[in-house]
Amino acid sequence: MIRYFFVVVVGACVALVFELATTAITAADLITFGALVGCTTVCVEAMRRLGMPAGISRDLLGAWWLPTFLLLPPLYALLIPIPIYALHQFRVRRTLVFRRVFNAATVALSGYVTSTLSHSVGGGVTPNLTGLSDFTAYPLEFSGQGLLTSIICGGLFTLLDTVLIVTAVRLSAPETPWRDLLWDREDLLVDTAELCMGIMVTILCGISLVLVVIALPSVLLLHRSLLFQQLQTAARTDPKTGLLNATTWQSEAEAELSRALQVGRPMAVLILDIDHFKRVNDTYGHLFGDQVLIGVANTITHQLRQTDVVGRFGGEEFVVLLPDADMAEACRVAERLRSRVGRMALPVDETTVTITISVGVALLAVHGRDLIELMAAADLALYRAKDAGRDRVCMPVTSNLTVSGPPDVRRRGSAAREFGGRSAAAE
Ligand code: GH3
Ligand code: MG
Ligand code: MG
Repeated sequence: MIRYFFVVVVGACVALVFELATTAITAADLITFGALVGCTTVCVEAMRRLGMPAGISRDLLGAWWLPTFLLLPPLYALLIPIPIYALHQFRVRRTLVFRRVFNAATVALSGYVTSTLSHSVGGGVTPNLTGLSDFTAYPLEFSGQGLLTSIICGGLFTLLDTVLIVTAVRLSAPETPWRDLLWDREDLLVDTAELCMGIMVTILCGISLVLVVIALPSVLLLHRSLLFQQLQTAARTDPKTGLLNATTWQSEAEAELSRALQVGRPMAVLILDIDHFKRVNDTYGHLFGDQVLIGVANTITHQLRQTDVVGRFGGEEFVVLLPDADMAEACRVAERLRSRVGRMALPVDETTVTITISVGVALLAVHGRDLIELMAAADLALYRAKDAGRDRVCMPVTSNLTVSGPPDVRRRGSAAREFGGRSAAAE
C-alpha cells in the first residue's frame, strides 16, 4: 500500500515537472484555468457551509475537472487538484494529509492521461475569451467528433480514477469484494451527471468563457442536493457498519410494529450479540475488532430480505426486525444468521479467526405488544443464550405474559421470571 502510494504520487510529480518544463504558458490558458478554479472554489465553499458527511463522499467537482482536461494543455490537469484539495483540507475538513495528497495525485494522473489523449485526438473545443459582445463572430467548432471525444475522455477519466482508488482500497482491505467497489447504481448515476455537466461547461466555454456563470448555478444546485442526500443518509446510519443507527432503527421498527398490529400480521425482533468480543479486541486490537463488526454487519445484511429492518444497537450488538415472521420463521432466520456468522473466516496476521454470536428472539403478540416489551423479551432471551454457553439462539423462557393482546394472544401466568439479574415479561 505504501509503495503504491509513492508510485502514484511520484508519478504525478514527475509528470508535473516534465510539463512545467515543456509547456508554453499563455495568458489565455491562465485566464481559463483561473475561471475554472474559481468555479470549483465556489462549489467547495458552498459545500463547506452545508457540512460534509464523514467517510467517503461523492461530489460533482468533476464537472469542472473535465473542461480543464479538454480545454487546456495537460499541464493544467496536473495543477488543478492542488488548489482544490488544499481548499478541502484547510476550509472544509482536515483529514490525514496523505489521503488528500493521494486523492489529488489520482485526479492529476487520470486527468493528465485524459488530457493528453484528448489533445492528441483533436476535434475538441478551444475556449473563447472574446466575451459575449462578439462571440457570434467566433462560431463554435464543436463537431460530432468533438462530442464523442469529450464523452470518451470523461469516461476514461472516471475509469482511471476509479481503478487507482479501488486498487488502494483493495491493498488496504483485501477482503472487500470487487463488486462492492466497482458497481453501484447511485455512483454510476452521479458519474453520468458529472460527465454531462462537464461536457456542458466545455461547450459553454467554447462559445464564451463568460458563459461559465450560466453553468455555475446548475452545477452548484446539483452538487448541494447530492451532498444533502449523503448527509441525510449519514444521519440515519452507523458510520462503522453502514447499518441503521439505534435511533433510526427504533423509529422504523415502531412504524413496522404499528403496521403489523393494524393488519394482525406476525412480526419478530432479534437481538444479536457477538460472543467474547472483548477478547477479540484484546487479542487482535480494536482495528481488527472493527473489521469483525463490519464483517458481521455484511453477513447479516446478505442473509436478510429487503423488507427486514437491521441496525447496530450499540457496541457489538445488532437488532433485526422481521416483518411477517412467525415463530418458526424467526427461529429459522436467527439460526441461519448464527451459522453464517460462525462460518466467517476473518484473516489476521497470516491466520484466520472465527467468531460466534448469541441471538435472542421475541415475537409480537407472544412476548410483547410494543417495542419496549419486545426488546426486553429479546434481551432476556439473549441473556439465556449467553448463560447457556453462547453460540445459540434462544427465546424468552415460558412463564408469564402480562400483556393484553389481539384475540389470538393467550394470556399466561403473571409472575415475572428473574434471569441473569434482569426481570421481564416473558413467555
Ligand atoms: P459476551 O460474550 O458476554 O457478550 O462478552 P463480550 O466480551 O462480547 O461483551 P463485553 O460487553 O464484555 O464487551 C464488549 C466489547 O465490545 C467491549 C468494547 O470495547 C467492545 N466494543 C464496543 N464497541 C466497539 C467498536 O465500535 N469497535 C470495537 N473494536 N470494539 C467495540
Ligand atoms: Mg458480546
Ligand atoms: Mg454486548
